[in-house]
Amino acid sequence: MNAKKRAYELGGLDVFRLAAALLVAAIHTSPLENISAGADFFLTRILARIAVPFFFMVTGQFVLGGFGVTSHVKKLALMYGGAVLLYLPIGIYAGHYEDIGIWGLLRMLLVDGTFYHLWYFPACILGIGVVCLLRRMLPERLLLPVCVLLYGMGLLGDSYFGLLAYAPGIKQAYELFFQISSYTRNGLFFAPLFLLMGWKAGETWGLKKGKLTEKPIFLAAASLAFFGLMTVEGFTLRFFGLQRHDSMYVMLAPCMYFLYRWIMVWQIRQRRELRTVSAWFYVLHPAVIVVVRGAAGVLGLTGVLVENSLVHYLAVCVGSLAASVVLLWMGRAFSRKRKDRERAAKTARAWITLDRQALRRNVAVLRENLPKDCELMPAVKADAYGHGAALIARKLAACGVGAFCVAEIGEGIALRKAGVRGDILVLGYTAPQEASQLIRYGLTQTVIDLSYAKGLNECLKRRLPVHIALDTGMHRLGVPSGDMEALREIFGMKRLSVKGIFTHLCADDTNLEEDKAYTRMQARRFFQTVERLSAEGFDCGKIHLTASYGVVNYPALGGDYARVGIALYGVLSTKKDSEECRLPLSPVLSLKARVALIKKLHKGEAAGYGRAFVAEREMTIGVVTIGYGDGLPRSLSCGKGAVLIRGRRAPILGRICMDQTIVDVSDIKDVCPGDIAVVIGRSGEEEIGAGDVAEWSGSITNEVLSRLGKRLERVID
Ligand SMILES: *Cc1c(COP(=O)(O)O)cnc(C)c1O
Repeated sequence: MNAKKRAYELGGLDVFRLAAALLVAAIHTSPLENISAGADFFLTRILARIAVPFFFMVTGQFVLGGFGVTSHVKKLALMYGGAVLLYLPIGIYAGHYEDIGIWGLLRMLLVDGTFYHLWYFPACILGIGVVCLLRRMLPERLLLPVCVLLYGMGLLGDSYFGLLAYAPGIKQAYELFFQISSYTRNGLFFAPLFLLMGWKAGETWGLKKGKLTEKPIFLAAASLAFFGLMTVEGFTLRFFGLQRHDSMYVMLAPCMYFLYRWIMVWQIRQRRELRTVSAWFYVLHPAVIVVVRGAAGVLGLTGVLVENSLVHYLAVCVGSLAASVVLLWMGRAFSRKRKDRERAAKTARAWITLDRQALRRNVAVLRENLPKDCELMPAVKADAYGHGAALIARKLAACGVGAFCVAEIGEGIALRKAGVRGDILVLGYTAPQEASQLIRYGLTQTVIDLSYAKGLNECLKRRLPVHIALDTGMHRLGVPSGDMEALREIFGMKRLSVKGIFTHLCADDTNLEEDKAYTRMQARRFFQTVERLSAEGFDCGKIHLTASYGVVNYPALGGDYARVGIALYGVLSTKKDSEECRLPLSPVLSLKARVALIKKLHKGEAAGYGRAFVAEREMTIGVVTIGYGDGLPRSLSCGKGAVLIRGRRAPILGRICMDQTIVDVSDIKDVCPGDIAVVIGRSGEEEIGAGDVAEWSGSITNEVLSRLGKRLERVID
């Protein structure tokens, strides 16, 4: 909530991205050239060499750690494509590609990059491919040794190439390799080690948000020490003239290991805009170099702007930064998201915006985390956890989702009426008298026990597809898993066509040993029963047992379907679980209302029902257009909760009403009627998650979200 609690949000990584981009620009402009060759060597060939490994590590952490591989590779390819379009004409104009030939062209596009800094993109894509392949083929403990070995091979083709004078045979092999790739600092030898280290940074280094295993001062000292050694290494290699190229050092790896861990614990808030700016900066700065040189020529300022290396560097940085910031603004202005939100914001009283991209990402992340033949069967019950069932189901269908589950028949019928196709499984009780409706709308019903099966079978005129629920230990719905007699009887019923069998895990959300054992026991009972049925010749159809926590904590349990609910919406049940979740889920929903009016409250005056709040000083209050009738928990009354207005927190005063809530805006400058009040979501640098609201109200996100009211308008962007 406050600055202290929000520590360790990995904001350091965002800030360091920009620093790294500035260093890359230094490599390409040699700022200290005029001052001293040694100083320039230190800056551009040693210090700046930490920049690209840093970018690889960030990618490794968020892409490999999050399993969101495919979508990120697509994004990298897209960025590379865009950059190629920008730089190809410049390269042609500069005469870089004369007599290049088809082989040279391929080499340039696929490994070397079309312009000198663009090698990063193909290297990143290849590196991700290499690490993914390795982790599929090798046991986990061999990953690091193999990546280190690759790095070592790279060293010999880079800074240590001179050593190969003593091994002519090996040197020949390297020369051959250089026909394919001009350098060894590429996706095969260079990138994998850093991608792997970044991935592990998020996983095993105990640095999941909020936890710190080593003192920052130790990490800082260690990274500095290794950087010192790397400096010695660099100058030594230079002294002996061993370098063919100067990207790879032995000490670079341990230096990055500690540096990265240190940056991860900087207590800085996340800054998304810096991510965008530094990406633009990275791609654009060589173009700005060309522009600066051109402009200097035209203006007759070559002496200052180009020949003075430091001024040249500064001009390139300022120009690139300015261009990047303009592009950031333009991107924001043109983003459809923003426009839609603004439209909703103009007219609605209280509304929900759904982030289509976040939903898509969550689908991709969850899918990639499941075994191959396990498909998603999203739970869109309770109006898709308050998000809007029809809207969400349609978007999911567009992502290729072909099966859904709902809690009750009415929800299934509503989906059909909204045009949703595919299998829809009703998870809960449906009165047998409704059997004909189930048939009419093509719904699949859960058989919740033997006597229910009998009743349903009697009411049916035609065969109805059903899934059998097995009770493996939750003791809610389901046929007891050992009761083969009952199961045989159900399989034998004339009008029930068994299309699937499933169970529900009830203790899969903790890592307590006893819960893990219980979950394993449930899974064992489930699979044993399925096996026995199969052995007796019954076709169980689709089998499924995991919900969100099952997918997160026990992905290997597999099955044909994963009935994900809460995770699909980008959160887990508690704030802590969401923060510690190893999958990078993105919240889909934001909840907003507006400030209806502002007024003064004098010292001693009360506000709201029961005069529960009395002002202790002169203050400014705002009335916000949302209340418990919209699903805002009334237990957030009297300061338990807050909303965000203009990027600041406005604590809730007094008791929440059915349709309105009074908040304290004394400390918020320029607040005025019509302003947006964010109840769940981001505003400026601040964020209130569904997990926060759940925590404040003593509940779980599932309840908070699923209670969001019918009265709210829902907009998807
Ligand atoms: C609600 C429900 C789910 C989805 O649960 P989440 O924890 O939200 O993923 C899955 N299976 C059954 C039987 C459910 O009732």
